Amino acid sequence: MTDFPEGTVWLVGAGPGDPELLTRKAERLIGMATVVFHDALVGAGVLEMAAPGARLVHVGKRSGRHSKDQGTIDKLIVAAALAGDRVVRLKGGDPAIFGRATEELDACHAAGVPVRICPGVTAASAAAASLGQSLTLRGLARKLTFVTAHARAGEVLDLDWATLADPEATLAVYMGKAAATDVSRNLIAAGLPADTPVALVESASLPEERHFHTRLDLLPLVARTALGDGPALLLIGQALARVKRKHKAAMERVKGTAKID
Ligand code: SAH
Repeated sequence: MTDFPEGTVWLVGAGPGDPELLTRKAERLIGMATVVFHDALVGAGVLEMAAPGARLVHVGKRSGRHSKDQGTIDKLIVAAALAGDRVVRLKGGDPAIFGRATEELDACHAAGVPVRICPGVTAASAAAASLGQSLTLRGLARKLTFVTAHARAGEVLDLDWATLADPEATLAVYMGKAAATDVSRNLIAAGLPADTPVALVESASLPEERHFHTRLDLLPLVARTALGDGPALLLIGQALARVKRKHKAAMERVKGTAKID
């Protein structure tokens, strides 16, 4: 294939974890790579798609456990491309959503290394699938906002709460587990009703997937007590109102698993 010559880089979206949620393009690029730099959130099933001789380099970042800083990752990618590798930089979800893609694109551009993006299924889409619910709702949730609640160590979470507290929007909060209390308090203070529906989805699309429904004022409690170690997404808004029991029971039957809720 001519879209992946030696000395070039692809930033590839690995999706939310389930290898079947990878695009066909991503699968092909991973199979062609001579080196794959991957995150902690990229599952083993996805890495198995790499060619037998390919180098797999873990440059994983999970909140609080940075194994390599961003500058080092940029340098590693560029160095591999300049050495003649076909480089896949595999990122959880979609590379262009809270994935530090700009730094890596800039580093490649600065070094004259051709770089392209292969999109992936973002966590919010996987979470909606896990819930069996839509993120938008005709007439009720006309807007979908992706926001990160990640604050640098020691800094307060500085978001535009007045704009975020929109009763006609769905908020998808990435990296929001640790900030659940701040998110809840600030949105309520900015005028969002305390009983606004909230869904928390942990490890969407993975075997250990779990989801919970609650309301905005109870979000901190649920986040603290119910969530485990997996990546979790907070979804806030009227679109997340609990689905009817009958519908839900039917969904669980289809999936063949009993889910905690
Ligand atoms: N680029 C990624 C997001 C990276 S930020 C994407 O498009 O999905 C990492 C955050 O994404 C996590 O803290 C969590 O909030 C969310 N996330 C990633 N994978 C997830 C999953 N399988 N289930 C739930 N949330 C997930």
